Amino acid sequence: MIPDKILHYIGGRHVPSADGATFGVTDPVTGQVYTQAAAGGPQDVDRAVAAAAAAFGSGPWPAMAARARARVLGKIADAIQERAGQIAAVETYDTGLPVTQAKGQAARAAENFRFFADVIVAQHEDAFSSPGQLGYVLRKPAGVAGLITPWNTPFMLETWKLAPALASGCAVVLKPAEWTPASAALLPEIMAEAGVPDGVFNIVHGFGETAGAALVAHPGVPLISFTGETATGQTIMASAAAHLKGLSMELGGKSPCVIFGDADLDLAVDSALFGVFSLNGERCTAGSRILAERAVYDSLVSRLASRAERIRVGPPSDPATEIGALVHAEHYERVMSYVRLGVREGARLAAGGSRPPGLASGNYLAATVFADVTPDMRIFREEIFGPVVCVTPFDSEQEAISLANDTRYGLAAYVWTSDLARAHRVAASVEAGMTWVNSHNVRDLRTPFGGIKASGLGREGGQHSIGFYTQSRIVHVATGDTRVPRFGA
Ligand code: NAD
Repeated sequence: MIPDKILHYIGGRHVPSADGATFGVTDPVTGQVYTQAAAGGPQDVDRAVAAAAAAFGSGPWPAMAARARARVLGKIADAIQERAGQIAAVETYDTGLPVTQAKGQAARAAENFRFFADVIVAQHEDAFSSPGQLGYVLRKPAGVAGLITPWNTPFMLETWKLAPALASGCAVVLKPAEWTPASAALLPEIMAEAGVPDGVFNIVHGFGETAGAALVAHPGVPLISFTGETATGQTIMASAAAHLKGLSMELGGKSPCVIFGDADLDLAVDSALFGVFSLNGERCTAGSRILAERAVYDSLVSRLASRAERIRVGPPSDPATEIGALVHAEHYERVMSYVRLGVREGARLAAGGSRPPGLASGNYLAATVFADVTPDMRIFREEIFGPVVCVTPFDSEQEAISLANDTRYGLAAYVWTSDLARAHRVAASVEAGMTWVNSHNVRDLRTPFGGIKASGLGREGGQHSIGFYTQSRIVHVATGDTRVPRFGA
């Protein structure tokens, strides 16, 4: 089940790097290198872009009827569903995500393909009629799309980009995250079986600074869809400027979960805990700053802390596990350094903060709750991306809004209140691309997904994704007398 080597997939063939380079992939439980993956460089990116450009330029894929492409996407979805157990097992082994949650992500990956198959079949374009002129929009796939993805929920996020790109008729080069290449390695077989023509789907593995950077700099790739850290996004934007590339940037977050005293507090506590501790806390939309109204603050802190202490941290493959192992020793050390920082900054450690008993090795951290966190603390301001939550009190609606917005990020926000008017006021005032009111992070794939401020640029989801992977072109046709000013007559 676990691959003993991972190769690139270029033009329908599994190939090593041109220079033979590989890198070791570790598992988060033992920290041991368990497989070698091809380490791509500019030459491999060149080969993949050439294969994609050939498939796009002369192959059937971009010209196929939407219905025909949708049928292929449906087969991809079926294949993912059939292999969901295997995909989840590989993902769990490679990322340390709890297996029950990895199963949910595999199901969502299948849904991504099914959903975009439906979207592309239902796609229709505008026409503009006026006396004497008709305009209509032609929509064309944009070409070779470069897809660069992070290590948290890798398979799901890869399919979140692949499905609309392929539905739109693009050819793609995917560069998966170097810490978690294993589940992407299951895609070539799925794509080939479903009937995706050779060259339409390519993977180049490797490091961001080499494989990723070469993809971004390649003149044959007009689009880059990137999900990852804000700093990486800034580097990519600078490099992409040379070729005026289309960019979709899904970046970091430090999202507030605002709980008013009049909320359904049982539900709010469940949601706040799930929101920050599911997916090991390695979740871009994690509600990692809980803002609690003063009247309920103390009781909320003690409820959050006592529940956090009971969250089951354990082997990712155990179905009872709620928090698994963090993805990589380097990331584990980074998260632990934030825990130490929080203590130094004077926040009150109400739960967790160290390895759970009985787990002497592996990247394990108990669900960690910091209370009395103030906005000047770095743990309030910076993305930790692990099972660590900050709790901060507020005294008024206005203060809640200004605390919520006191961050460079603007990805998600969660608001809990039973006051309808206040719910709408706060939702309109928090600076976030996505706000959930009395609801946890339930996605409707038609809706715009993305952040504002340092959390991103552009939107994915439904028509927004199709808009990104296609070019709309307007054709103007005279339907009456054409009158032209007669220069030089
Ligand atoms: P990262 O930025 O380190 O890496 C992401 C991808 O970019 C990897 O494939 C990496 O190899 C590649 N990369 C790195 N440097 C590059 C360069 N110079 N040129 C081209 N590619 C390069 O991010 P990560 O640590 O893998 O992921 C965690 C981050 O992703 C967090 O900040 C999280 O919030 C964010 N994220 C955002 C969303 C969202 O939808 N907004 C979703 C998931 C994760």
